[in-house]
Amino acid sequence: MRILVTGGAGFVGSHLCDRLVQQGHQVTALDNLRTGSRLNVAHLKDNRLFEFVEADVQQALHGDYDRIYNLACPASPPHYQADPIYTSMTCISGALNVLDLARRNDCRVLQASTSEVYGDPDISPQPESYRGSVNPHGIRACYDEGKRMAESLFFDHHRMHGTRIKVARIFNTYGPRMDPNDGRVVSNFIVQALQGRSLTLYGDGSQTRSFCYVDDMVEGLMRLMESDEDVLGPINLGNEGEFSMLELASQVLELTRSRASTEFLPLPQDDPRQRRPDLTLARTRLGWEPTVALRDGLRRTIDYFAARLAKAA
Ligand code: NAD
Ligand code: UDP
Repeated sequence: MRILVTGGAGFVGSHLCDRLVQQGHQVTALDNLRTGSRLNVAHLKDNRLFEFVEADVQQALHGDYDRIYNLACPASPPHYQADPIYTSMTCISGALNVLDLARRNDCRVLQASTSEVYGDPDISPQPESYRGSVNPHGIRACYDEGKRMAESLFFDHHRMHGTRIKVARIFNTYGPRMDPNDGRVVSNFIVQALQGRSLTLYGDGSQTRSFCYVDDMVEGLMRLMESDEDVLGPINLGNEGEFSMLELASQVLELTRSRASTEFLPLPQDDPRQRRPDLTLARTRLGWEPTVALRDGLRRTIDYFAARLAKAA
């Protein structure tokens, strides 16, 4: 198949491109390199099944495709908050442009939505039926509401035009190729531990997240894309293991054998207190569940960052 991956030079997008190329598909990664990097797809450069196009998903899109994965959007809080209007517009215009392209091609289009649509949730775990608790004018709103609007556009396009949509709600995902400076907790803690700098815990570190290893996530996204036509989503994809940031810090320190200390910094506004996916739908409709435990995924990610830091040094 001819497959377009927007955000294909990003962390998750580049792993998705790898798997699709391995399966023999003709893959186009479209990315404006806002938070991604050509380095993430440099190993695919000479592969005849792969092409990279530097473009913005906010501009009209062209081309003949059988599948479109829409991953283009800054994902780490510091990055998506740096230019919040850009983030909102990427979510909204990007969604409209991939939907229009999918409609013209009569092809499937998958939206990378997020657990952030649940905001700071009042219930745990979060099933897809939970409508969320989002502050519509806080500093996370550009991303949370942008992604909620994108979901709304996906379903309206489907209802109005019969566009063949799939919507995944991605929970915190980590692994090799995260940008060491992108500010998310797993990359921050690992890089800090490896460099012997104090681990920066926001708030008292009791807030929880559920971390999914990137290979599991890519498998989930591909299963959703190839699922029965009537499976539209939204479907949660993530890992049910729930850890406080204090627990995460202690695992990272143990696995890196680092003697780094920890320091407590103010909790950012609207930081969700808890997050854990209900994976019932993913299990029943996709036959998918995550397979990589946090410790194993952390080991692989630590190896990646250790090699990257050594090379940079
Ligand atoms: P990332 O920042 O590494 O990748 C996003 C990519 O999109 C980058 O390569 C960036 O340059 C590109 N991009 C940004 N704006 C663009 C635009 N206007 N036009 C073209 N390209 C643009 O982040 P990621 O973690 O790989 O996230 C990928 C997708 O998955 C995002 O849509 C994100 O919202 C979603 N998601 C990720 C997580 C996670 O934990 N990694 C969780 C929930 C949802
Ligand atoms: N966090 C932290 N230290 C850091 C970076 C993040 O304690 O150096 C916390 C952050 O406040 C949040 C959790 O870790 O509670 C996850 O943050 P991340 O930015 O990775 O993702 P998100 O908040 O979008 O789930």
